[in-house]
Amino acid sequence: MAKGNIGVTSDNIFPVIKKFLYSDHEIFLRELISNAVDATQKLKTLSSVGEVKGDLGDLRVRVSIDKKKKTLTVSDHGIGMTAEEVDKYINQIAFSGAEEFLNQYKDKAEAIIGHFGLGFYSAFMVSKKVEIFSQSYKEDAKAVHWSCEGSPEYTMEDTIKSERGTDIVLHIDDEFTQYLEDATIEGLLKKYCKFLPVEIAFGKKKEWKDGKEVELDEENIINDVNPAWTRKPADLKDEDYDKFYHELYPMQMDEPLFHIHLNVDYPFNLTGILYFPKIKSNLDVHRNKIQLYCNQVYVTDEVENIVPEYLTLLHGVIDSPDIPLNVSRSYLQSDNNVKKISGYITKKVADKLAELYKADKDEFAKKWDDIKMFIQFGMLTDEKFYEKAVGFALYKNLDGKYSTLEEYKDQVRDKQVDKDGNMVMLYTNDPDAHYTYIERAKAKGYDVLLMDGELDVHIMSQAEQKNEKLRFVRIDSDTIENLIKKEETAKDNYTDEQKEGLRKAFENLLPSDADKLKYYVTCEAAAADALPVFLTQNEFMRRMKEMSAHQQGMSFYGQMPDSYNLVVNTAHPLIQELVAKETSEQVNEEVEKDGKKETVVKTVCALSGEDERLKQLIDIALLASGQLKGEALAKFVNRSVELL
Ligand code: ADP
Repeated sequence: MAKGNIGVTSDNIFPVIKKFLYSDHEIFLRELISNAVDATQKLKTLSSVGEVKGDLGDLRVRVSIDKKKKTLTVSDHGIGMTAEEVDKYINQIAFSGAEEFLNQYKDKAEAIIGHFGLGFYSAFMVSKKVEIFSQSYKEDAKAVHWSCEGSPEYTMEDTIKSERGTDIVLHIDDEFTQYLEDATIEGLLKKYCKFLPVEIAFGKKKEWKDGKEVELDEENIINDVNPAWTRKPADLKDEDYDKFYHELYPMQMDEPLFHIHLNVDYPFNLTGILYFPKIKSNLDVHRNKIQLYCNQVYVTDEVENIVPEYLTLLHGVIDSPDIPLNVSRSYLQSDNNVKKISGYITKKVADKLAELYKADKDEFAKKWDDIKMFIQFGMLTDEKFYEKAVGFALYKNLDGKYSTLEEYKDQVRDKQVDKDGNMVMLYTNDPDAHYTYIERAKAKGYDVLLMDGELDVHIMSQAEQKNEKLRFVRIDSDTIENLIKKEETAKDNYTDEQKEGLRKAFENLLPSDADKLKYYVTCEAAAADALPVFLTQNEFMRRMKEMSAHQQGMSFYGQMPDSYNLVVNTAHPLIQELVAKETSEQVNEEVEKDGKKETVVKTVCALSGEDERLKQLIDIALLASGQLKGEALAKFVNRSVELL
């Protein structure tokens, strides 16, 4: 029997492995199975070039638990290792230069694994002793038994092993008995090994029979060795993509909307399938994540730095041997391959969407509501994506018609350009609440967009920035005559004093809750057939407030009270009647002029005795914009009955 020291200059490698890798210790299983799969793949390669003769026989990798002996074993029928190879690959290679490196990266466990291919040694995270039994495929090679108890000392001796391949036997630490539970191991296998290219067997298949779970004679195979993304798009039908989607996300009931099959081999290697899920709100977003694989080995579903943020809304898989997997996140961001991959995926996704849009605009429009969140998110966060997406990002009007911004511009160009040459897009986020405003706009032949999505406000601001002389205004933000000003606004014949008297009369009767809600009264000649009094809300202030809900540094706007304009329509006969009832009187007023006090005579107009009517008018305005509720509404109803 040979004894020796593992080729590492530091005695503390094992405590380090245990301690620093603690948080992620479950990855040991992934590492061991990857090695087993690699060994099997290598054997297949050797066989295909004729270096290994004859039938390769059973190539399944098996994972088994022996509860009595407290061992977990990973067995393969791959190329195996000779004693020299164990010495070279296990005893020497793994720890060359380890001491220096460890000092440098004490707390970056993942980096240690990645840098040194500590794959095999991760077994010591959960084991007090690890044994290797291996029989090389090489003719005349003797089987070897290696054993190590978590210190730099190991033993190595010849042994007898009837089958080609390697068994790695872990004597599980008392602290980690969960790894002797079938359920834990099956769970880990499903997580990391679901799509490995060699069959992984764990125990026997089980079936429910008469309310009991019974074991069948068949082995329980964990993985799909030919997952859809590794196959040629030409060989796959839509059903295959859908089926694979549900394989990836067994809990997902909805079908994906469509998919994109990624396949590049230059300048980097990348395959994968991305799915567009139905996303209705932010809440849905992160339930199913894109999974990242490296040669079919599951790595992570934290892909934030590898794909652009908005693409993380998609589902699916990305498989690339070129993404550095075991390094820190900050490193990932600066990695050139990663940047290229991210750029490539953006382009590919944008091209696919453009292609779908071109191929069938109606079909695309049908899916728009489900994908708009994702596309808008992309447009707002990625300039390159924006450039492509303007060609297929859609706007929907109240008749349910969809158009791109350019198409929509053409549609409204005739009517909705104001006297200064601004094209004004009218929109509502709540057609019921804005019903009266919408009717007035339609009466003028204007079109109204439905913009009720979570990102719509941002998308409109972006479109305004990118398009000169384009403005979006919510239908209730002013009188329709003011929203799209055609010529100088209609004038009425009233004096400023008369209007001030009218303004004050209304102001005194408005509900007040100065912290939360503020009303400003203005007198304007709208249209004779518009409401006598109505509410508008300044587009800019409202939008700032809405955006402040999502953005940092805008809390100033968030804290402002909601403010509305109560517009008194001096063109309306009812208002004209009220003006006629105003009384006017001359008052003396002291003013300071050039340091001297002077008395001037002023005209003051006032309206009295009409409070009930004014209240009724105010309530109608509130009612028309959905703001009359509770007690105020009850009072309105009663007053209406009395007036009748
Ligand atoms: P890595 O897999 O990153 O090279 P490991 O420490 O996991 O690092 O393994 C070191 C080497 O040991 C492998 O490259 C391989 O040559 C050999 N090896 C490990 N496990 C097996 C196995 N099950 N069968 C054959 N060779 C193996």
